[in-house]
Amino acid sequence: MGLSVAQKIIKEHLVKGEMIPGKEIAIRIDQTLTQDSTGTMAYLQFEAMGIDRVKTKRSVAYIDHNTLQTGPENADDHLYIQTVAKKYGIYFSKPGNGICHQVHLERFAVPGQTLLGSDSHTPTAGGIGMLAIGAGGLDVAVAMGGGEYYFIMPKIVKVNLKGRLQPWVSAKDIILELLCRLTVKGGVGKIFEYTGEGVKTLSIPERATITNMGAELGATTSIFPSDEITYEFLKAQGREKDFVEILPDPDAVYDEEIEIDLSSLVPLAACPHSPDNVVPVSELKGIKVDQVAIGSCTNSSYKDLMKVAKILEGKTIAEHVSLVISPGSKQVLSMLSQNGALASLVSAGARILECACGPCIGMGQAPRTNGISLRTFNRNFEGRSGTPSAKVYLVSPETAAASAITGYITDPRTLGDEPQVEMPKSFLINDNLIVPPAENPDEVEVIRGPNIKPFPQGKPLPEVVVGKVLVKLGDNITTDHIMPSNAKLLPYRSNIPYLSDYCLTPCDPDFPKKARENGGGFIVGGVNYGQGSSREHAALVPLYLGIKGVLAKSFARIHMANLINNGIIPMVFENPNDYDTIEEMDELKIENARDQIEKSDVLIIENVTKGLKYRMVLNLTERQRQMILHGGLLNLTKAKGMN
Ligand code: SF4
Repeated sequence: MGLSVAQKIIKEHLVKGEMIPGKEIAIRIDQTLTQDSTGTMAYLQFEAMGIDRVKTKRSVAYIDHNTLQTGPENADDHLYIQTVAKKYGIYFSKPGNGICHQVHLERFAVPGQTLLGSDSHTPTAGGIGMLAIGAGGLDVAVAMGGGEYYFIMPKIVKVNLKGRLQPWVSAKDIILELLCRLTVKGGVGKIFEYTGEGVKTLSIPERATITNMGAELGATTSIFPSDEITYEFLKAQGREKDFVEILPDPDAVYDEEIEIDLSSLVPLAACPHSPDNVVPVSELKGIKVDQVAIGSCTNSSYKDLMKVAKILEGKTIAEHVSLVISPGSKQVLSMLSQNGALASLVSAGARILECACGPCIGMGQAPRTNGISLRTFNRNFEGRSGTPSAKVYLVSPETAAASAITGYITDPRTLGDEPQVEMPKSFLINDNLIVPPAENPDEVEVIRGPNIKPFPQGKPLPEVVVGKVLVKLGDNITTDHIMPSNAKLLPYRSNIPYLSDYCLTPCDPDFPKKARENGGGFIVGGVNYGQGSSREHAALVPLYLGIKGVLAKSFARIHMANLINNGIIPMVFENPNDYDTIEEMDELKIENARDQIEKSDVLIIENVTKGLKYRMVLNLTERQRQMILHGGLLNLTKAKGMN
């Protein structure tokens, strides 16, 4: 039986398990990437493993998220990451060098290799034919140490691209079309693999726009074949030696199939407040725009910004519009300044921001109250822009530029002939903002500013676990409730003691105090506990406060994995009515905890205060049981070694 591109790469890297959808497998990781917001924790965890040097082929630490320096915290974090990278064999991409996914595509991504990144848009590198997966910082730390990455073998979905895009229709519209059809839940447990004649019409940055936003489908990853277009891109980046052809076998078997006729697509927009709330741009005609933001890891490549520059050339943006542009990388910005396109952008009225995530992560440029913001980004959740009442529409660079000129949401096809932009035969290569690791690690001192605090580590599970119910919560508690994140708290991502004062405070302002006074305890939740962002801090901070277990009616998948990674026991009520009998400050007790976790799928927990016993379901794989027994993934990794 023939194999698809994704299956070929998985097979080549398979360490454990079989490639059967739904079954757990483990793969070898060739490359890792981190960004600063998740990176500090990942490197503290890596240091705790006691390994001298990363074992990957290439690991890169990027600074692109928290680049505002309104106090010393972010600068302290950057210096810690820079020194830890130098010591342990990691390349360091300085602030100003660009957004992790854009720079990785340009300078590091290699077809056929595996990449694990502590950022949900890591699949961007799938545009170049890499199997690239986003994961928690601890998983990335383990991969840097040479450990395999465990995940559930996804279904492979063949996305057959027919025909070619019409003028003014772009790669962004392809992925918006898919989001419209499948919704933000449509990709869970799947890899989207693009094939068909339409693939050949798309450049690498266009392919990367599509794989980037596959994350919004909830997909494990997305991937394109590595073909002659991949070769041309790598050659233009001076990296033709990294090229390897990877095409699907003619008789490859896929689990599902979707067809998109590129020639039938029109410019699309995702309306507030979800990336799958998609309509044709023409239906939004006449909506007045306050802000246009162009950039992010989705749409900030050389080709994207050259297209915008050509559309804006000789024009002036509308009087009531603020246009902000964040180039994806120093390479992109340097080329735009060299060929004069930057002058077109500036003279049309664009405000040029640094090469970083910026407005996409809410670091500046929040729209006005009730403002309408058109963005080329990948997410438009309520409040993400920094203005809770703002309405954010996600569009292509072409639609964004057209609307900046008119001041109203505008279908770019109304502008007449589309300006053409060719992919450059050679990019401007200057890696002077990428600091290589030290040859002699002993000479490097890791500098920890006062914002770098030790992170909490789980302890092996005792025989008897006792504690009080510190809080009883309702349904759909998000990781944002558990560990709020905003521009004020983001600089403290490496300071768990500081963050712990805010744990669950949107639900119960006294929670941190109660946890401290009682030496930790239990959390009780309703349905879908821990939904939302994959935030690892929503497990690390409760661990710091001494949380031993969470009893809930059900858990969101990633948060449950993060709890287990940190040695906190997630337990599901076998009888949901038992939830009603628990009250705050009830004392709970688990007898023979180790034995129960090791041997049974149901754990008996006693409510000592009420004189009741509850049957709690454990949905754990064998490896997850070991993690709980050892007090988390880090301890298990230390105890068992990397493989
Ligand atoms: Fe995340 Fe936005 Fe940065 Fe991309 S540009 S990595 S989506 S914050």
